[in-house]
Formats: sequence, C-alpha cells, structure tokens
Amino acid sequence: MTAPPRVVVVGGGLAGLTTAFRLCQLSSERKKTAVPQVILVEASGRIGGKLCTERTSGFVVEGGADSWVPQTGEVESLAEELELDRQIHPAAECSVRAYRRDIDGFVPFLGEGGSPVGRPSSLLCNPALSLLGRVRVRLEPLMPRRAGGEDESVRSFIQRRLGARAYREIYEPLLGGIFGGDPAELSAQATLAPLVQIEADGGSLLRGPMPRRHDRNTMRPPILTFSEGMASLTERLHGRLGEDHVRTSTRAIRISRDSGQWVVRMDSGVEERCDVVVMATPPSTVGDVLRELTDIQGSVPEVPSAQTTVVNLAYRRSAISHPLDAHGYLNGRGVGNGVSACTWSSAKFQHRAPSNQVLLRCFIRAAPADGKDMVPENPEGAVALARDELAGSLAVTEAPTQTWVHNWSVPVYRVGHTQRISAFRARLAKLPGLYLAGAAYDGASIEAVIRSGVRAAAAVRNSDIVQETL
Ligand SMILES: Cc1cc2nc3c(=O)[nH]c(=O)nc-3n(C[C@H](O)[C@H](O)[C@H](O)COP(=O)(O)OP(=O)(O)OC[C@H]3O[C@@H](n4cnc5c(N)ncnc54)[C@H](O)[C@@H]3O)c2cc1C
Repeated sequence: MTAPPRVVVVGGGLAGLTTAFRLCQLSSERKKTAVPQVILVEASGRIGGKLCTERTSGFVVEGGADSWVPQTGEVESLAEELELDRQIHPAAECSVRAYRRDIDGFVPFLGEGGSPVGRPSSLLCNPALSLLGRVRVRLEPLMPRRAGGEDESVRSFIQRRLGARAYREIYEPLLGGIFGGDPAELSAQATLAPLVQIEADGGSLLRGPMPRRHDRNTMRPPILTFSEGMASLTERLHGRLGEDHVRTSTRAIRISRDSGQWVVRMDSGVEERCDVVVMATPPSTVGDVLRELTDIQGSVPEVPSAQTTVVNLAYRRSAISHPLDAHGYLNGRGVGNGVSACTWSSAKFQHRAPSNQVLLRCFIRAAPADGKDMVPENPEGAVALARDELAGSLAVTEAPTQTWVHNWSVPVYRVGHTQRISAFRARLAKLPGLYLAGAAYDGASIEAVIRSGVRAAAAVRNSDIVQETL
C-alpha cells in the first residue's frame, strides 16, 4: 500500500461540499486502508455558495435558492443522512401557485394542473393561456417529429411543438426566470431534456410520462424547503466535514502539473500538492485556473453567466392590502421595470417572518446579452428598483422595515451546451485526476448539483489513482 491519495476540492458551494463529504465517507468506511485525504478550499469567507440563508429578528431570509422540487430524491436522501429530514417542510398549498402580472393586473398562472415544464398537458386548463393558444396546444400530438437530433433553442422547440402563443404567454416568462437567460438562446436539450426525449422517442408532450412525485390530491409536484432555510444543508455538510478539511478565504488561482502530481496554488501563496483535483466552481474559474495546462488550452467551454440580484424586503402586514394568496408572481412580457418575478416568501413558507410582518423577494435579472445594464450598481439602487416594482404590482407605498440584497452569477446553458461539455470532458479524461462538479454542467437545480457532487466523488474513488493505493 502506498501513501494515501490527496484530493483538493475547489469551491465550497453545494457541489464541492457534497463531493468532499462523499470522499470523507470513503475515508471513514476504510479506516484500515489508505484513504483519500480531502481538503476543500473556498474563495469567500462563507461556505455554501448559492445556498445562503440569513436568520435575523424572526426572519428567515433566503439570499439564493429557497426550495427544491423533488424528482429523484437526492436532496431527501442526503438530508436523511445528515439527520435533517425532520426539518423538511412543504410550501403552503394555494389553489393558485403563481400569478402572471400583466398590464391590467394579476392572472392565475400556475394552478391545479401543475407546471407546464413538467406537465405540458396542464396548459389545457391554464387560465393564463388564451383560447387560441389552447386550441394550438391540442394539435401538439399531430406535429411532426424533428429530424436530425441536433440541439435547438427552447423558443424553437416550444413554438414547434406547442405553438407561438404557449411560448409567449407561458414558457417565455416562466423559463427566463428559472434558467436565467433568454429562452431564444437557451438550449432545449440542456434545459428541457425530458420533453426533448419524449419527442425523440416519437411520443407526444401532452401524453408523455408524468414526473415521479406529486401531491396526492392534485397533479402538482410538491415544493420542499428546510424550516431554518436552505443553508441548513450546506451548514450541516460543513459541520460533518469538520474544520480540518475546509479552508475558507482561500482562492485557488493556478493549477499545474509537476512530477506526476497536481500543484494547486492559492492566493495566499501556499501551494497544495495533490493527486486529484475536483473543480466545483463556475467554468470561467476553471479556464482561468487551468490556463497553463497545454492539453486543454482553448477547449474549456464558454458557459456565459447572467447577473441576478435578489432583494428581500420586510413590510408591516398592514402595509399590503393584497391577500398574498399564492407563492408570488412573474412579470409578463413588457411589464415591470427590470424585476422579473416576486416571491411572497412569508406566504409560500411558514415561519419566514414575525406574524405582524411579511417578507417579499424580488428578482432583478439581466440576460448575458444585456451586459450589466439592468443590474443596479449598488444595493440602494436594487432596493429602489424593487420598491418601485412593488408600488406598481401591490400598491405598496410604505417603506420596508428591513431589506437584504444579494448578487449572483448564474450559468446560462446556450444551444449546443451538452455537446460542448461532453467534448470538454473527453479532453479532461486525458488528464489523470482532474474532475468537474457543479451547476455549470449537467443541471443547476439543487438535485442536479448534489448528483454532480456524488458522481465526481464516485469517479475519484473508482479512479486508478485511488484504487492503486488501496
Ligand atoms: C437566486 C437563486 C435562486 C435559486 N433558486 C433555486 C431553487 O429554488 N431551487 C433549485 O433547485 N435551485 C435554485 N438555484 C440554483 C442552485 O441554488 C445553484 O445551482 C446551486 O446552489 C449551485 O451550487 P454550486 O456548488 O454548483 O455553485 P456555487 O453555489 O456557485 O458554489 C461555487 C463556489 O465556488 C467558489 N469559488 C469560485 N472560484 C473559486 C476559486 N478560484 N477558489 C476557491 N473557491 C472558488 C465560490 O465562492 C462559491 O462558493 C438558485 C440559484 C440562485 C442564484
């Protein structure tokens, strides 16, 4: 048996934490043999990345993700292992989950039939889709299958299968919000894979298979969260890893090869020699950090990112006359001042605000093509934009009692994304001991990100480097 392999995981978001946690489990399973020594490095002073909960004065404020829609069970399994399963709570049941805000007011948008992304047949009873739009949707089973199997944009796919009205009235506001990009540029294969597969198999989207998990009494999948906020997950992973394995405020700035090992250089000047590196950061960081490796130069795929600002605002309950009887609303085409959606957090989840207050959160998004023009320059500008939006949508004139502002870059999967990532992985396979995980590759949902961490850890433990030392 040779010396235990050393692994450096770069990035302390959910992907990096899951990878490191799984690798450390391998360590505890094989106490008597050589097991990987794992170190996770995180550039910022806080672990968790886009899972970021602030708990203050009776508020549970989500700066990033606020929930997940269970499809494959990864989050629940991990939560159970971490003894967090008792903290899983469903979102409130409302007959209308979300409204679309049009020029003349709110229209019920996501109702009893479920989400049109998971279940396009719900369009037939969606009051936000015009009569002509519904007639066209009914014709979907007659639409010819697309030949060739090449990727296309979400707009092209939806318009072809379900019609221009379904795209404009339903999918454009919904998908732009979920995937952070212009659906005219988003990859159908990367963002709507189950629907694309139904067509490829010769099926109809209206008759296609249902997502696996649904509420018993409705056709809708549940929405789940943790009672103390989504950061409960990353905090617990961090706790299980222990401080010995985690270094915050440590940015990896360059990775090179030397004598058959990887050398990870940190911004502090410290160098870590290791056998395996898992990059769990955005691809722009991957390209930057690996710039000296001639084997992959020029092949790191460009995955553009969109800037998103999340503004949480607390108000006295009496400041808002609207009943807040849904999870929130999305702005329809041409509506709003740059805010794309607003979640009514204290209506969506229990215990998010003291009983005499409400918590609302607005999303300000700029597509990559827009540059940063729509992103406010400072937190005050973001709050002003959000207040202006709420004055228009909910007639709120009072000042908020508290505000919180968070800025993010989210990966945008453009047409051809899956092919570019596969080609890059093929190049990486020639470099022993270098792996990828995270939201930039095979899905940005919390489930997909956990899956990417689990897969990266499995690839490391099955690699020759680790197996040869056992
Ligand atoms: C506003 C918002 C709302 C969302 N809502 C939902 C939702 O409701 N449901 C859902 O399923 N998903 C949601 N998502 C998506 C989901 O939260 C993310 O895709 C996921 O958390 C990303 O995890 P990650 O580990 O891949 O990346 P990140 O969380 O971005 O973590 C990457 C980490 O790498 C670090 N890093 C970068 N460069 C370096 C370096 N050189 N050295 C060391 N560290 C580095 C960063 O500081 C960061 O902490 C949302 C995302 C956002 C932004």
